[in-house]
Formats: sequence, structure tokens, C-alpha cells
Amino acid sequence: MLQTVSWLLPLLTLYLMTAVATHLVMSFAQTLMHYKLGHHPMGGKLFRNHINFHHSYYSKDHLVSKTYLSDWPAPHHDTRI
Ligand SMILES: [Zn+2]
Repeated sequence: MLQTVSWLLPLLTLYLMTAVATHLVMSFAQTLMHYKLGHHPMGGKLFRNHINFHHSYYSKDHLVSKTYLSDWPAPHHDTRI
């Protein structure tokens, strides 16, 4: 039993550290791309979509908002195809 724990603990620690590091790196990349591509014209189509869609529904002051600002389905949204 003790040998199993001594073998398993470093492996589980490695898995946990890998998951945490991956989460942090991807969160940082998402934040960086949000500001560098989504908020500057060099982002092109991503910039236009981000400003015209994303920030028309979510707060401009926060990356994450508990409140979804849309009143969808709103009268200005034509749901007919
Ligand atoms: Zn943004």
C-alpha cells in the first residue's frame, strides 16, 4: 500500500500541475488576444465582431460579467430566416 502511494502521489501531482499550468497559460492567452486583437483594429474581422457583438451584450469594464445584458429575443432581432 505504501509503495503504491509513493508511486502514485508524484504522478497525480504532475497531472495536477500540468492541468493548472495549462489553465493559466490558456487564460493568459485568451486575455492577451482579447485586448490585443479584440480591442484594436489590427484584429480585423475579429475586432469588428468583438466590438459590435460581444461588447453590446457584455460590460465594457469587465472581462466577466454576472449579468447578461441582452433582452433577447429583442424587437431589433429578427428571428425569421
Ligand atoms: Zn473586449
